[in-house]
Amino acid sequence: MIRPPDYVQEVLKTLEQQKYRAYLVGGCVRDMVMGRTPHDWDVSTDAWPDAVQALFPRTAPTGLRHGTVTVVTAAGHVEVTTMRREGPYTDHRRPEQVAYVSDLTEDLARRDFTMNAMAVSPDDHLVDPFGGASDIAQKIIRCVGDPAARFSEDALRMLRALRFSAKLGFAIHPETLRGIRASAYLAKTLSAERVRDEVEHMLCSNRPEVLADGLELGLLAAYTTDATANRGEINRLGQVSSHRYHRWAAFSAALKQSGTIISPAQFLRALRLDNKTIRVAAHGADLALSEQIPVDAIACKRLLAEYGVDVIRCMAEVAAFFGCEDSLSQLEAVLSSGDCFSLRQLAIDGSDLIALDRSGTEIGQILDGLLDHVLQHPADNQRDVLLAHVRSRGDGLGGRGLGGRGLGGRGLTGSE
Ligand code: ATP
Ligand code: MG
Repeated sequence: MIRPPDYVQEVLKTLEQQKYRAYLVGGCVRDMVMGRTPHDWDVSTDAWPDAVQALFPRTAPTGLRHGTVTVVTAAGHVEVTTMRREGPYTDHRRPEQVAYVSDLTEDLARRDFTMNAMAVSPDDHLVDPFGGASDIAQKIIRCVGDPAARFSEDALRMLRALRFSAKLGFAIHPETLRGIRASAYLAKTLSAERVRDEVEHMLCSNRPEVLADGLELGLLAAYTTDATANRGEINRLGQVSSHRYHRWAAFSAALKQSGTIISPAQFLRALRLDNKTIRVAAHGADLALSEQIPVDAIACKRLLAEYGVDVIRCMAEVAAFFGCEDSLSQLEAVLSSGDCFSLRQLAIDGSDLIALDRSGTEIGQILDGLLDHVLQHPADNQRDVLLAHVRSRGDGLGGRGLGGRGLGGRGLTGSE
């Protein structure tokens, strides 16, 4: 089994020296049993939070309501939580109250799955009252206790089951799955933010296809129409680059295509994604589903000028997902050519035009005209060439812009 780093062992030892009991618990134990390196360390203790705060020189009150204090050391953080039993749940989301207990098994019993309900003592003994290690060996996700009751306490556990299945490649135990089927309607009580985080974990995992099960089970019913999602396409989501923009875009495009959502933007907004992700993924999905997929480099550059690289890369990834690989190679060719497609890359800027006595809206119009021209004639993106042209046009650029048309599409240098 993987050994915890020194700073974690120090925290356990400090608690033990004061005659408190202290155990590693939860995800880090699961990861240690699986031979994976944990990304965070959780400790359960019978010391109350104020005692934990008094014992360590640096702590942060990260979850005092649940009895959690974060111990801060130079080498890393350890979340220390007082062992607890949860009181009754009345809203399927959070317990009414928590009660501290000194029995480790009680603390483990409130946890969601057998693999997450194990502990390791400071002398390296595994405490596993619910058969977590055996379920890990069999690659099974199984509720601690009665699934329907556990999902009724906290509906998020249903999404967590699918998330762990996606992340670890484990199967959900048939009884646990039956519990999800029976309790799926409770998922609508969950906050969009909690649902979003779980969906994003699934989406960006190696097995995003579990989302097809999530949709079929009705776990996303609060965000979808009654139309059935196209399972074949959701099953293929793993082919899309694992960047979160691209997975969200491909997922929403697939759902839009089957009528399972009304629009990508509405879906992503309802799931409370951040504005940048909504903009990039929704535009990427919409463009890929539209007739606007660029057929040549100039069209590609025009889209880049209008939407920016993130959106167009997203569009190209989703277009490739739907079988049209061309725009991806088109985009790569444009990007590696170094050709100008944005005002930022234009060889002159507003200050050059001010120096030429241009002002107000005219400046923007001239720059837009020059950009449109340079999209078609990349060789003209040189400071001297562009300045010479602005000078030679006198006031001729104002209002009309070059637009490619002003130059008869020939190019400023006459080289094309
Ligand atoms: P990860 O590796 O993604 O962090 P994790 O299992 O550590 O997985 P956390 O959300 O960090 O997940 O939770 C830590 C532990 O707290 C879990 O292992 C589990 O024992 C318990 N836990 C977390 N969320 C719930 C929940 N909704 N219901 C019951 N127990 C939970
Ligand atoms: Mg964790």
